Amino acid sequence: MENLIELDKKHFIHPTSSIQQQQANGAKVIIEKGEGIYLTDRNGSVFIDAMSSLWNVNIGHGREELADAAAEQMKKLAFSSAFSTFSHEPAIKLAEKIASITPVGLNAVFFTSGGSESNDSAIKLVRHYWKIQDQPNRRKIVALKRGYHGVAAASTSVTGIPEFWEMAGHMMTDFTHADSLYGKDTEKAITSLRHTIEVEGPETIAAFLAEPVQGAGGVLIPPADYFKEIRQLCDEYGILFIADEVITGFGRTGKMFGMENWGVIPDMMTFAKGVTSGYIPLGGVIVSDYIHHVLKEKSAGTLFHGFTYSGHPTAAAVALKNIEIIEQEGLVENSRKMGGELLKGFKKMKEDLDIVGDVRTIGLLGAVELVQDPDTNKRFSPDLKVASKVIEALHERGVICRPVTFDSTDIICFSPPLIMNQTQVNTLVEKLHDAVLSVQKQLVNSSII
Ligand code: PLP
Repeated sequence: MENLIELDKKHFIHPTSSIQQQQANGAKVIIEKGEGIYLTDRNGSVFIDAMSSLWNVNIGHGREELADAAAEQMKKLAFSSAFSTFSHEPAIKLAEKIASITPVGLNAVFFTSGGSESNDSAIKLVRHYWKIQDQPNRRKIVALKRGYHGVAAASTSVTGIPEFWEMAGHMMTDFTHADSLYGKDTEKAITSLRHTIEVEGPETIAAFLAEPVQGAGGVLIPPADYFKEIRQLCDEYGILFIADEVITGFGRTGKMFGMENWGVIPDMMTFAKGVTSGYIPLGGVIVSDYIHHVLKEKSAGTLFHGFTYSGHPTAAAVALKNIEIIEQEGLVENSRKMGGELLKGFKKMKEDLDIVGDVRTIGLLGAVELVQDPDTNKRFSPDLKVASKVIEALHERGVICRPVTFDSTDIICFSPPLIMNQTQVNTLVEKLHDAVLSVQKQLVNSSII
């Protein structure tokens, strides 16, 4: 058998990874197969994919219907341009379908190949919108600390995690970040946002951009009033509101789109990941009827923004089949129901163990925080790498999960496929319980707790 580990080291620069760690240790897992909620590596070890890979494989792995939809479309028309006056049925049908499932008043879609391109596109579109509205000074984008929006030029800068800007220097101008909701204090977060807007100058701000639930920031679920207040604040200052639904779209939070949990309609929504359940790259921006109206009235000449793969016919055909499966199998409802069951399991675990802090879910998006003292929420020293140890213990027990450790937190994130059933939820919770207990014992043995 070819030595894939050596070839990987020699030729493959991995995304969001440590190149030195790869060279020292090689790829730890080489996945070969996916079926349902499970991934199998080339040694035959089976894992629960408790993150849906990168929060995206919403309908689970190995669905032949999607492979068939791709094959059928490829045989008929694998690719053709959507630039200028060309169009094709799959993209038209997908735009119509997305308009029919997004909140009212969002009906026109610009397609991309992923989340980063979607956020860059949204940012360019809002700036264009203000330019043709004779307010070219409205260029700034306000976002939130701990927000993650991707790694293209503008999406890196709108991301509120400094490590991403520092990798290649610094972030671009005209981006700023208010406090995130970590801590659940709506009033404090809204005050920070208002302050940021006033310091920057509302007449210079094009849009506020945020995830309905900050995912990579640690699954931060806002309280009921948060987005209503944000919407009011944006309206007060005439600022557009862009919701980044890249993780939260397509059923993840127990609603088709995350923002529906707060009954708030943004001016634009960006999406990717779950639109195809990751079977093929696709993303997009959906814009409000008003923005679309302004574009139709005032965007003279060519809109100089378009990707070769904007509206890719094969990707569109896969997305249509994926959305059909989400609807026909009631996966939005299942996400809500199983998310509730997952939370019950987390809460029981919190009662039984000593190092479990806040636990939360919204649909099948959840987090478990590990803390030194759950009563005071005192965190562990980052040197102890508690979250990473739990991830390692989970791995040994056949679960793939993800830690978040910004700002000295130890958060374990969960985003399993929306097809999870009760037995699988129970197994996941049992394995998590066991993994956390094993790390807790280590901490007791080293007299840390
Ligand atoms: N927005 C959010 C909320 C994300 O979580 C991600 C990726 O994880 C992105 C945008 C970027 O998407 P992509 O990696 O497809 O460019």
